[in-house]
Amino acid sequence: MKSVGIIGGGVIGLCTAYFLQKEGHEVTLIDQSAMDFGASYVNAGYVSPSHIIPLAAPGVVKQGLRWMFNTSSPLYIKPRLEKSFMDWAWAFQKSCSHGNVERSVKAIKDITLLSSRLFSEIKASEGFTFQLENKGLLMLCKTEAMLEKEMKLVKTASEEGLEARTLSLSETEKIEPNVAMDIVGATFYQCDWHTTPQEFMTELKHYLQLKNVQFLRNERVLDILTQGNEITALRTDERTVRADEFVLAAGSWSHLLSKKLGIKIPLQAGKGYRINS
Ligand SMILES: Cc1cc2nc3c(=O)[nH]c(=O)nc-3n(C[C@H](O)[C@H](O)[C@H](O)COP(=O)(O)OP(=O)(O)OC[C@H]3O[C@@H](n4cnc5c(N)ncnc54)[C@H](O)[C@@H]3O)c2cc1C
Repeated sequence: MKSVGIIGGGVIGLCTAYFLQKEGHEVTLIDQSAMDFGASYVNAGYVSPSHIIPLAAPGVVKQGLRWMFNTSSPLYIKPRLEKSFMDWAWAFQKSCSHGNVERSVKAIKDITLLSSRLFSEIKASEGFTFQLENKGLLMLCKTEAMLEKEMKLVKTASEEGLEARTLSLSETEKIEPNVAMDIVGATFYQCDWHTTPQEFMTELKHYLQLKNVQFLRNERVLDILTQGNEITALRTDERTVRADEFVLAAGSWSHLLSKKLGIKIPLQAGKGYRINS
């Protein structure tokens, strides 16, 4: 049994705490917020093996430059004249290659399939009641050009063993009979899942507290203390937290802390979507 300090109480921090406590480790989780808001609470809840093409793909830089200056575009990353942004933009454009897409497809597929398996495992093992469904994803295409592009994606996904297919108009209408659709066709990914993040996060926090995971809320990690090559403790604005092992799960803030260890992570926060009902 080891003691583990986790920086960040978003979905990654909580799930890490879940699996560590299950293995018998003593977990302390530190978050600078009250742990009731943020990306992990407000996201769209999609677990999407269908999204196997990385964002860094050929053509994205040209498109992205146009999108970047429009806050209502699907990919909005606030452009800034800062070194960290410039470094990220340089690394991103270098990754927009066919080689990178080919290398990434398998890794993204493995991670997202593992993620959907682990969500199901968590739900089944502890009697959680959060929503988790395998209804799949419908991509609706308004133009032939878009349908053709999506069909290529279906081909790639199918070759990777994912349940993906192209639908005719009438097949699409059968799936959503009550929606009037102005489309030429659609693609369907049965492999995709969705959950309700607020429910998932609330239940997981409650469960972890019952399992004696210690939460240090509203406490900010300011520094990472080292001795030689070992991390020995975290210094927060309230105390020093010692542990055998540490996990950095600080989301889009992670690069700020990793810098203290001389580790450069090119990372920028981007825009996301959610559905309010
Ligand atoms: C609107 C929206 C929709 C999205 N939709 C989807 C989707 O459908 N599917 C999907 O897979 N992804 C989606 N995403 C992305 C997804 O939400 C994020 O990738 C995910 O929540 C990141 O989780 P995380 O735990 O890494 O980071 P976060 O949830 O950001 O958690 C990091 C935590 O670290 C804490 N922290 C940071 N620095 C410190 C410090 N120094 N000391 C202490 N604590 C610190 C922060 O307070 C924060 O609570 C969406 C994102 C948004 C915003």
